[in-house]
Amino acid sequence: MVSKDILPNREKEPDTLSEELLAWFAANSRKLPWRIGYIPYQVWISEIMLQQTQVKTMLAYYDRWMVRFPDIASIAQAPEDDVLRLWEGLGYYARARNIQKAARIMVSDLGGKVPRDFDVLRSLPGIGRYTAGAIMSIAFNADYPAADANAGRIFARLGDIAHPSGSKEFCDSVDRMAWQLLPRGRSRDFNQALMDLGSLVCLAKEPLCVQCPISGRCEALYKGFTGLRPVKAGKKAVIQIARAAVVMVRKGKVLIRRRPGTGLMAHLWELPGGDVPSGMSPQKGVGRLWEDELGIRLGPLESLGVIKHSHTAFRVELHAFLCNDPNPLPRAVKNAQQLQWVAIAELEKPAFPSAHRRIIRAFLERLRCASQADSPVAIPKAKKPLPVSTQDFSNA
Ligand code: SF4
Repeated sequence: MVSKDILPNREKEPDTLSEELLAWFAANSRKLPWRIGYIPYQVWISEIMLQQTQVKTMLAYYDRWMVRFPDIASIAQAPEDDVLRLWEGLGYYARARNIQKAARIMVSDLGGKVPRDFDVLRSLPGIGRYTAGAIMSIAFNADYPAADANAGRIFARLGDIAHPSGSKEFCDSVDRMAWQLLPRGRSRDFNQALMDLGSLVCLAKEPLCVQCPISGRCEALYKGFTGLRPVKAGKKAVIQIARAAVVMVRKGKVLIRRRPGTGLMAHLWELPGGDVPSGMSPQKGVGRLWEDELGIRLGPLESLGVIKHSHTAFRVELHAFLCNDPNPLPRAVKNAQQLQWVAIAELEKPAFPSAHRRIIRAFLERLRCASQADSPVAIPKAKKPLPVSTQDFSNA
């Protein structure tokens, strides 16, 4: 039974709320591929993809993923580059690496299956409390709550939670309500009903309360506070960052660099460059970066445009340049083992961060236009990528 200090009972008995929500879900649930059969592997992958990503964005990625990696064994055996390439564009690449690490543990220690145990799930890379609850309830219909951002918003409005979103008090209140309302034996449908209600009706900006099956219980609606719940946490200042990168072309190949194995976008490939040193123009700054980090003095640079992209805490302006006329390349190159000359026609293969992929597309489009205009510049045929050693580099 739900206590009235947490959930108001304006019109009906509290224990019918779950029933009303379940009835609404039966009639209005979204048709999603992992809801056909509720195969634990598919539920797990969907939950990881949905972290930081909306359903409509992730669906195409999900479909491609299931074609390439139809089961746990296939993801466990795959080269990491294949995994990252398939994830390209979804961002937060640690999610993809953690899927592979967890799949390998499942294969080696857990009989090749997604474990049906909350604590074991929690011990796997990339699976936190929410995700473990979502897998337990959606894949196995076990009695665990799974309050994602949508559910948190609904609870904040239902119970008129005045604590700032994300605060301990807010999370504790949501958690308490999630446990109290969970209909035992129906957690699969109940948790998904909350997710769908949050996506379709209890919208963040303008909730469609007239369509809401539980509006009679909503304390925020009763008080006229729907626009004030959940209370937003104080916003952190957004940091502006200027970056620059160069498409260096030489004999039909482009120079790319592997990012370090830890940190943001670990192990992805990129076009060499970095943060523009303060007080410098992007063009001068990237010249300095190439000289300091690679020991290469760039020739004349041509702009390929500016790509703007945002993360939670910062906004980036990435200035892209083309260098078709490098000075003679030095024999000794710093960090040469991280560099690779890749044939232009092979640029689709390595996994790049989205912003760098956009630069490559702009570069390829420029080449295509040049080809059509009968320019001597043309896209060469695909060949095996040429690894860069110091020797290769001096000959490139
Ligand atoms: S009544 Fe409105 S604000 Fe309250 S839960 Fe339903 S949609 Fe959300």
